[in-house]
Amino acid sequence: MAVRITDTCISCDACLDECPTESIVDNDDNPTGEDIYYVNPETCTECVGDNDEPACAEACPTEGCIVWDNPTTSGAVHNEAVVEE
Ligand code: SF4
Ligand code: SF4
Repeated sequence: MAVRITDTCISCDACLDECPTESIVDNDDNPTGEDIYYVNPETCTECVGDNDEPACAEACPTEGCIVWDNPTTSGAVHNEAVVEE
């Protein structure tokens, strides 16, 4: 269970302090080497128990940048990229 930040991330920093599990690192610390922010899939809870929706996605100004597929939180406006027809 984890959200994923996609390559439309503009490194704006809006999500970083919103994460209750401190799962987000900035582009300098992204272990994949990509110049985008990164969510640690080992610690991200998709905010279950903390927020109705992933707090990072709520804070993100880039539509569709943060995606996820957890059935308990999917259906939100930010996850259309992972929803199959
Ligand atoms: S979904 Fe919640 S726990 Fe996961 S990275 Fe975003 S803010 Fe953090
Ligand atoms: S809020 Fe969105 S665009 Fe800004 S750093 Fe986080 S994932 Fe990237």
